[in-house]
Amino acid sequence: MARLASKSRQLYRRASRAIPGGVNSPVRYYPPYPMFVASAKGARFRTIDGDEFLDYCMAYGALIDGHASPEVIEAVQKTAAKGSIFGQPTVAEVELAETISSLMPSMQMVRLVNSGTEATMHALRLARGFTGKKKILKFEGGFHGSHDSVLAKKGMRGSVTARPSSEGIPVETSKNTLVADYNDKETTAKIIRDHAGELAAVIVEPVAGNMGPIPPTRGFLESLRKLTRENNVVLIFDEVITGFRLSLGGAQEYFHIKPDLTILGKIVGGGFPLAAFGGKREIMRKLSPLGPVYQAGTYSGNPVSVAAGLTTLRSLKKRSSRLYTSLERNGEFLADGIKDAIDTQHVPAQINQIGSMFQIFFTRRTVTDYDSAKSSDAGIYNRYFRRLLKARVFMPPSQLETCFLCTVHTREDVEETIEAVGESLKAVQGE
Ligand code: PLP
Repeated sequence: MARLASKSRQLYRRASRAIPGGVNSPVRYYPPYPMFVASAKGARFRTIDGDEFLDYCMAYGALIDGHASPEVIEAVQKTAAKGSIFGQPTVAEVELAETISSLMPSMQMVRLVNSGTEATMHALRLARGFTGKKKILKFEGGFHGSHDSVLAKKGMRGSVTARPSSEGIPVETSKNTLVADYNDKETTAKIIRDHAGELAAVIVEPVAGNMGPIPPTRGFLESLRKLTRENNVVLIFDEVITGFRLSLGGAQEYFHIKPDLTILGKIVGGGFPLAAFGGKREIMRKLSPLGPVYQAGTYSGNPVSVAAGLTTLRSLKKRSSRLYTSLERNGEFLADGIKDAIDTQHVPAQINQIGSMFQIFFTRRTVTDYDSAKSSDAGIYNRYFRRLLKARVFMPPSQLETCFLCTVHTREDVEETIEAVGESLKAVQGE
């Protein structure tokens, strides 16, 4: 723990009696107890013990303009004062859908929902409804939320037919999910061809973000695009992390590939609960009330979340000519600094970075898929994380997460971080 963090410790005891594990999402727990946050502004948050941390978790990538962006907060306050939910459509929902379509032209039609989990669940149902096929293909280590068909990992002895990665999911459900290795072009092609008759969708994070950031190797996404098109399979880009982060038009703009359906979450809600799925008109028209695929939600298109999302997207659009190059430059500067620290301290480690996404891996292997990401020494990562806490720098507690820069991290913040990372690696080596 950074310090004794005594109020957090007391509160965690109380939280553990009221909430399973004391947290409302398991990633928020780290031993012996997480720090509780009181407030945040810009690139920093303050705990209930009064300690201030430079934040590279950024709510797991939800915030691109840092905490409590003044323009978002103002929009939210004004909107909430007029009523927080009507159960009827509003102007701003239409404006948000139009804005999304203009920034990501592959999303000809858009439906707003509340979370990434909901969005992938409905997009997969839609792909099944559209194709009349039942199986889906995902990639090992890829995360698409916490519903049954995507909480799946490779089967026994590496079988491509998945088994559940959580208790409570029927084996029968997982049998409709196939699993391939990210960046393995050849095997993936074979799976798609072999199962073409029953495969409804391939769902992929175009840059894997839930095993640290892993960029696609040359030709991987292109090959998915070609194979899915040839075999009447819906290609779904899960851009919950990469959307509006890698570029204004997301990974699909960055890599020049148009998926059939796209999932958005995190940044699209401007720090509020909102997500979206959308894509080709002919597919989206299958959704109720137009078509036979059912999807609904009381809070979908919630005015307050929509105001936050719309304000964020409009602001990003206005600033985009400089914003993304500057994020990329800051990301490269940080990654170069960490790489130098790794070399200076002779630590067997790698740094993966693309744009504002980065992570260190304590392994000698180049990290290109789940297997190589898992080869990182989680014990060393844990010690590194703790050392950084002492230096008041907060990275995600788990090795298999991505660290995020945002537009309010300054060059000075990054320099301070490189120094802290260097000190932390030195200490970790000595332990
Ligand atoms: N897809 C990706 C790529 C994600 O990273 C996440 C969450 O981290 C999700 C889907 C699920 O989103 P949510 O947590 O909003 O349900």
